Amino acid sequence: MAVHFHEEDLPEGVLTGTSPLAVDTETMGLITHRDRLCLVQISDGSGDEHLVRFNPGSAYDAPNLKAVLADPARIKLYHYARFDLAAIEYYLGVMAAPVFCTKIASKLTRTYTDRHGLKNLVNELLGAEISKQQQSSDWGGPELSPAQRDYAASDVRFLHAMRDKLIPRLEREGRLEMAQACFDFLPTRARLDMAGWAEHDIFSHA
Ligand code: MN
Repeated sequence: MAVHFHEEDLPEGVLTGTSPLAVDTETMGLITHRDRLCLVQISDGSGDEHLVRFNPGSAYDAPNLKAVLADPARIKLYHYARFDLAAIEYYLGVMAAPVFCTKIASKLTRTYTDRHGLKNLVNELLGAEISKQQQSSDWGGPELSPAQRDYAASDVRFLHAMRDKLIPRLEREGRLEMAQACFDFLPTRARLDMAGWAEHDIFSHA
């Protein structure tokens, strides 16, 4: 159980198995084309997390990371995939699918609450505590603090275990197929955001 820190790419031969990968990103903000991608976090569920940091002005030339993210045989687990997929495609040029999104799975099953944040979900499903204190910190600096590294790693630490809890709930409520269809649409949803339909719901009547 360790957090591994890398600059500009994953080392060769890391995370090259076939298991699903938990993925998260940290950026300079919420406006993808303005706010650069600073960090990609990945875990294969074995207990280690890998953090890949990108410097200001990075060329995002990260062949090992891109190959792992783009592998169509590996499911990528996210909490709110919509944002991460857009950031990854915009900066790294790959669509990091196929997808399982724990936020969507939560919304389709935990209909008794409107609290679908990662912290709430981790606490209810796994009884674990994560801190969100570093969420809105400066991810663009030359050094990430120990608190930032631990926060970044914790964002991918629980996604495999949560997927294992959420799939039976989706099955129980008869919504697994609908959830899968939503996951399959997420790359398009992210592309709609980047193409100018972020706020406009193309499915609405208006
Ligand atoms: Mn995060």
